[in-house]
Amino acid sequence: MTQQKIMVCGAGIAGMACALGLAKKAFTVEVLAPEMSRQPPRHDEYHPRVYAISGSSQNFLASLGIWDLMDATRLTPVQAMEIYGDGGGRLALDAWQDARHTLAWIVESGEMERALRQALKVYGVRWHDDQLASRDGEQVHTVSGKTLNAQLLVGADGAKSTVRRVAEIWHDFKAYGDSGLVTHLTTELPHQGVALQWFTGDAVVALLPMPDTDEGPQVSLVWSGPTEQIAELMALSDEDKAQRLQQWLMGVTQGRLGNVCVRSKMFAFPLTFERTGMVAEGVALVGDAAHRVHPLAGQGLNLGLGDVEELIRVLAAKPVHQSVGALPVLERYKRRRAEPIAAMRTVTDSLHSLFMAQQAPVAWARNAGMSIINQLPFIKRRLIANAAGDKFFPL
Ligand SMILES: Cc1cc2nc3c(=O)[nH]c(=O)nc-3n(C[C@H](O)[C@H](O)[C@H](O)COP(=O)(O)OP(=O)(O)OC[C@H]3O[C@@H](n4cnc5c(N)ncnc54)[C@H](O)[C@@H]3O)c2cc1C
Repeated sequence: MTQQKIMVCGAGIAGMACALGLAKKAFTVEVLAPEMSRQPPRHDEYHPRVYAISGSSQNFLASLGIWDLMDATRLTPVQAMEIYGDGGGRLALDAWQDARHTLAWIVESGEMERALRQALKVYGVRWHDDQLASRDGEQVHTVSGKTLNAQLLVGADGAKSTVRRVAEIWHDFKAYGDSGLVTHLTTELPHQGVALQWFTGDAVVALLPMPDTDEGPQVSLVWSGPTEQIAELMALSDEDKAQRLQQWLMGVTQGRLGNVCVRSKMFAFPLTFERTGMVAEGVALVGDAAHRVHPLAGQGLNLGLGDVEELIRVLAAKPVHQSVGALPVLERYKRRRAEPIAAMRTVTDSLHSLFMAQQAPVAWARNAGMSIINQLPFIKRRLIANAAGDKFFPL
C-alpha cells in the first residue's frame, strides 16, 4: 500500500494534539488551519480561556511531551473543590481524601497552544495556512483554491465544523438558553488551590485558582447563566460592567474570597448541547466538532483529548492492509468513544437539570443531598475520581 496521508483540519488544542500524536506514531500527517502566532505571554497577562485539565488529560499531554514544554509557573494545581447549593447545601472534596496530590490543573489555552505549536515545528509537521471549503472523496479543497489529498480527514474544526457539514455527518443541536461569561478577577483573600462553585438556582458560578499577580491573588470566573442577564451586562460600558459584576459576585460568594475586582476583558458566548455521528468513510471528528457539553463540569476539552487519544490508539492498532480512512476502522473509534461521551453527557445534563430546577421540593432535595453526601466518604471518593477524570462512575 502506498504511503497514506492524514489531514487534520483545525488547530485548536484537540487538532494540534491529534497531529502531534499521529506524527509521533510515524503517520504522515498535515494540518489545515489558519496559522496563528502565539508570542510568549507578558508578565501578569493571562489568556482569557482557561481549562481544568483532568489527570487523564495531563497524562496524555505528558506522553506527547507537552506538559514539560509549558511554563510551570503558569499552571495551577487544584487541591480541593467546594460546591455550594442555593439553600445552604455544601460539598467539599479534597484530593487527600482519595490519596491524591491534585484533582486537576488549571491551564491557560494560550500556553497549551504555544507548546503544541512548538512541538509540531520540531516534528516538522506540514501546516497549510488555509481553511477547508469542500471535499470530494480523498480530495480536499481549500478556501484559497488549493486541492490537497488525504485518505483520512480529521475534523477538529470546533463546534461549527465545516468537515462535519461537507462529510454530511448527522448533527443534533439543543440550545440551553444559557450563555457563558469568562474573565479573570483579583481577590482579596488567597484561593489556596481551591476551586469554588456555586449553584444559584438559575446560574452556575465557578472561580478557578490561577497564579498570583502583582495586584494580588487571582481566580478565573466561569459564569453560566440566563442569556438575557449576561447580554444585559455585556451591553454596559466596561466600568459599569465591572462594577455590576463585582457587586453581584459578592452576593453570590458571600465574601468567600473577600472583595473581588475584574482584571481582564470579559467574553460571553451561548452554550449548546451537541451530538454527532462522529465518523463517515474517510472522515473522523474529534473535540467540539464531535460533541459539546455544558461547561458546568469543566470537561469539554478533556472529552476532546479523550477522542484524540482513542483515535490514535485505533489507527496505530489497525491491520496494515486497512486504509486509515476505512469505515470499519473509524467505526471502531466511534464505538470506543460512545460510553465516555454518553456518561459525560448524562453527568452534565443531570447536574444542569437538578441545579436549575426551580420547584421547591427539588431545590430542597439538592441542598439536603449535598450535605448528606458531604458526610459519606465512599461517595466522596467516587466524586473525587470523577473530578480527576479517571473514570466516570454512575453515582
Ligand atoms: C465557558 C466555557 C468554559 C469551559 N471550560 C472548560 C474546562 O475547564 N475544561 C475543559 O476540558 N473544557 C472546557 N470547556 C470546553 C472547551 O472550551 C472546548 O471543549 C474546547 O475548546 C474545544 O477544542 P477544539 O480543539 O475541539 O475546538 P476549537 O478550540 O474551537 O478549535 C477549532 C479550530 O478549528 C479551526 N477551524 C474552524 N473552521 C475551520 C475550517 N473551515 N478550516 C480549517 N480550520 C478551521 C479554528 O481556527 C480553530 O483553530 C469550556 C467551554 C466553555 C464555553
